[in-house]
Amino acid sequence: MYINRILIHQCCGPCSIYPIVKILESKLFTPVLYFYNPNIHPLQEFYKRLEGSIQVAKKLEVEYYFDEDYDVKFFINKVINNIEERCSTCYELRLEETFIKAKSLNISTVTSSILYSKMQKHDMVLKIGKEMSVKYGIDFYYEDFREGWQEGIDISKDMEIYRQNYCGCIFSEEERFKNQLKKKYKFEERV
Ligand code: SF4
Repeated sequence: MYINRILIHQCCGPCSIYPIVKILESKLFTPVLYFYNPNIHPLQEFYKRLEGSIQVAKKLEVEYYFDEDYDVKFFINKVINNIEERCSTCYELRLEETFIKAKSLNISTVTSSILYSKMQKHDMVLKIGKEMSVKYGIDFYYEDFREGWQEGIDISKDMEIYRQNYCGCIFSEEERFKNQLKKKYKFEERV
């Protein structure tokens, strides 16, 4: 094991695989995982993703921590006044909690598996990571993990890790399925 530990914010199992593998291969850090995602709704989905994250940690033999509180009220209260711009708040609160966790674990570097996903606002995550780094005096490790997009998908399928089909919050679920469901059901009113 390497001396420096890095706390990887784990947004879900599949997205965390490539960053963990890459960091293990680099031999720069010993990865430690932290699942903190109050953005994931509903509760059954939250547990599926938590379970997948823990399965990844166990299969890759990495130390892991998680926050099992399903704080839906906290998340909704944070984003409700600006639904359109909610992602920056969502990244901020998840990364901030990761920096706080790193401090409590005496870990001096943080990163996030959100940097792996091609679906996320990558530059926004990086900007917030840098801001949190200044605020907490803890390094933010940046790497464009999107380069391993297909590799991560392939490994997650081999490992049979649950793969979600929407970002996480209730609003993203609506955006993802609204048109699809309208087309599927084609309900008509009876007058
Ligand atoms: S769309 Fe995704 S990143 Fe944006 S607020 Fe919802 S869960 Fe968070």
